[in-house]
Order: sequence, then structure tokens, then C-alpha cells
Amino acid sequence: MNIAIIGTGYVGLVSGACFAKLGHRVICVDVDNKKVEMIDNGIAPIYEEGLDEILTTYKDNIRATTDYAEAVQQSDITFICVGTPSEKDGSIDLSFVKEAATAVAKELKQKSWHVVVVKSTVLPGTTQHVVLPLLEKHTHQKAGKDFGLAMNPEFLREGVAVKDFLEPDRIVIGCYDEKTKTTLQNLYKEFSCPLLATSLSAAEMIKYASNCFLAAKISFINEIGNFCKKLGIDTYEVADGMGLDERIQRSFLNSGIGWGGSCFGKDTRALRAWAKKEEIPCKMVDGTINVNEEQPLQLIKLLKKYLPVLKNKKIAVLGLAFKPDTDDIRDTRAKPIIDKLLEEKAKVQVYDPKAMDNFKKIHPNIHYCKTAQDTIKDAEAILLTTEWAEFRKLDFTGKIVIDGRRVKEAENAKVYEGVCW
Ligand code: NAD
Repeated sequence: MNIAIIGTGYVGLVSGACFAKLGHRVICVDVDNKKVEMIDNGIAPIYEEGLDEILTTYKDNIRATTDYAEAVQQSDITFICVGTPSEKDGSIDLSFVKEAATAVAKELKQKSWHVVVVKSTVLPGTTQHVVLPLLEKHTHQKAGKDFGLAMNPEFLREGVAVKDFLEPDRIVIGCYDEKTKTTLQNLYKEFSCPLLATSLSAAEMIKYASNCFLAAKISFINEIGNFCKKLGIDTYEVADGMGLDERIQRSFLNSGIGWGGSCFGKDTRALRAWAKKEEIPCKMVDGTINVNEEQPLQLIKLLKKYLPVLKNKKIAVLGLAFKPDTDDIRDTRAKPIIDKLLEEKAKVQVYDPKAMDNFKKIHPNIHYCKTAQDTIKDAEAILLTTEWAEFRKLDFTGKIVIDGRRVKEAENAKVYEGVCW
């Protein structure tokens, strides 16, 4: 099939590259010239395992442009994959989705049947009540009759995005019309996972419910972890015991300093802000967010057991990405920790294998080290904030290490404290 992808971030570019690998002809659109140029040169603007290789191997099937006309007019399906960030009050910012839908619609005017698919995470009702009216207004056409409409949430995880896209647990297609359902069933026919066809708003809600549930699972185990720490219990033994229950499962029960990333934070906040506006109780999601905001500061509390005054103390922070194998720092737990250290006037020196350039944009004035070893060399204490594999090989002998991510190999330090164990 001929596919247009609007927005070449983690979701758009990975989806586009994977569709190209599967033999489809893909044209990606972005407003960012630099990204478009890089993609056309076979270089992914984001770090994601295997992505560069797909872009170069399947270069005949994928290209990028800033021109909506070129992409939409030569395609059968357009996926809207632009960002849906938070407004200041936590509510969802739909401006990119609206801009993209309007720009797509303007090109659809001259086309026969075409399917528009919202892949961005949007609150229930958005595809039907925001995207559909924009498409109808600017095309002067009717959804379901002149063009198709669907909502196809994405569940990939950064760091393993290519694998997750190609081998998903399930594919959800919320379809406005039957013809669109057939088109998407056809597009995804090579995938062996269950394909669930739903209403538009059920598809939208499945994404929010999934993210809020996973975030809640982590916040729950972190709350249990705080009990365990106090009682001298290893939370990981507790998680192993719980996880053997088929109803619970072991995944997302690793306690630590909390969740970050581009999605859990903004999606939980968006659901909470929406619930507030609609006057719907939202206590579970509220609690999930609150636990996560307090959890990173447990690390500072433990640090102060050994260094009660942080002023002028050299503190090494290992890990800036919100998790290993990505350069993404959105909602990273390292940020509130570093903010607190700076508030207490500590001298902060940091290292991350991939995320330092991104972090420099929000914190230009801390000391960025060339290697992990340089970072810890003369530090008075070390905080482990991301579990990058290379940190497991460091020699922590003689050091004070406060671990937020269960880097077991650091236990040989002079002082070792785990945040929940
Ligand atoms: P991103 O910020 O990495 O990428 C968005 C891209 O859209 C950027 O390259 C931006 O330049 C481009 N863009 C913005 N406005 C545009 C416009 N009008 N026309 C063309 N391009 C435009 O975002 P992302 O992480 O890929 O997330 C995209 C959506 O997918 C969000 O709704 C997110 O919640 C959802 N999602 C993300 C993940 C993830 O792990 N990152 C996983 C599942 C779902």
C-alpha cells in the first residue's frame, strides 16, 4: 500500500520504517526540515535500535518531505503521528493534531477514497469530535462516504520500538466505517497477534487505560517498596512472589525511583485534567501521579543519611535518560533529583551514554563528564538513576552509592543503599 506518515518522531518514524520494511511505499511528513533531511539520508533523528539499518536497507520504500501534498496525494492511507503534549494544567494539547488534520484535509479534497488514521494518543471522543469535523470542513466531504476514518493507538516502547511495532501483543483498530475496517485489516494481515476492532472512542480509551494501569502498577510497587525499605524487606523478592500469580504477572513490578518517559506522565495528567473538567472521580490515577512525584526524592532522603549537608559536595548522577537504551529525557526521574541537588547547592556531575545532548537543553550549567568512570572518580556520593548496562561494569569500591534502579553490581560499594530494598 501507499502510506503517508505525518510526524516523524518515535511513533511516526518507527511506524513508517517498519511499514517500509514490510514492503509498503511510505512518505513521511514533518515540519522539521532537519529531521526530513536526515531521514532522506538514511539517518534516524532519534536513537532507536535497528532503525538506521531499516532506513538504509529499505531506502527505496521510504522517503521524507515537508510537503503534505506530495505525501497525501500519493497515498491510500495517512497516519497522523504528531505529538500530543501537556498544557500547563496537565490537559492535552491538541494543536499539532488539529494542524495535521487540517493540512491533510486540504490535500484530500482532490482525492478519491482515502483513509485517515489517528495514531497519536488522544482522549476518548477526539477522533470523532475534533478530527472528523476538521476533515469534513476542509474537504467538503463526508466521513465514511467519501473518506475513511480510524483510530489506531500505538503501544510500542521506546528502546525496543522497532521490535514492538513488528511484534505487538495486539493491534487495536477503532473504525468509523466498515470500508476502513477492511482496509486496516488488510494492512495488518501479516501480523500474527490478535487484531481488535472497536469503536473510535474505545480505541482511544484502551490506550489511556493501558498506560494508566501500567503507571499505577509501578507506583503501587513503589509504595510497597517504601514499606519494605522501612522493614528491611527486599521488595524484589516480594515482586517475584506476587508476579508468579497469573492474575498479577511480574512485569512492571520493579520498584525504584518511578516512571518517566514521553507517555505515562502526560497521559495520566491528561486523564486527570479531563476527569476534573467532566467532574468524574479519578482517585487511582491521581494517587499514581502523586506517588511518582514523591518517589525520586526518596533517593535524596537516603543520600542525606550519609551526607546531611549537600552544599559544595560533589555528587555524581549516573543516567539522564528516563530508561536505558534511549536518548529520551521526557519526564526523566533524574530531573527532580538534580533540581533538588542544585537547590541544596551540591556540585552535580553527570553522565549518560545517549541523553546528555538532550539534557543540556534543560540543564546547561551542570558538569557533563565524558565517561561514567570520570563521573564517579572524585565524587563524594553516586546516585544511580538509569540502569544502563555499562554502569554494571563500574568499580564502585570505596564509594557511597544510592541506587534508584537496582544495579545489583553496585552492592560492592563501601556504602550501598537501594531506594526500596
Ligand atoms: P515526537 O514528539 O517524538 O514526534 C512528533 C513529531 O511530529 C515531531 O517530529 C514533530 O516535528 C512532528 N510534527 C509536529 N507537528 C507537525 C505537523 N503539523 N505536521 C507534521 N509533523 C509535525 O512524538 P512521539 O513520541 O512520536 O509521539 C507521537 C504520538 O504517539 C503522541 O501522541 C504519543 O503520546 C504517542 N505515543 C508515543 C509513544 C512513545 O513511546 N514515544 C508510544 C505510543 C504512543
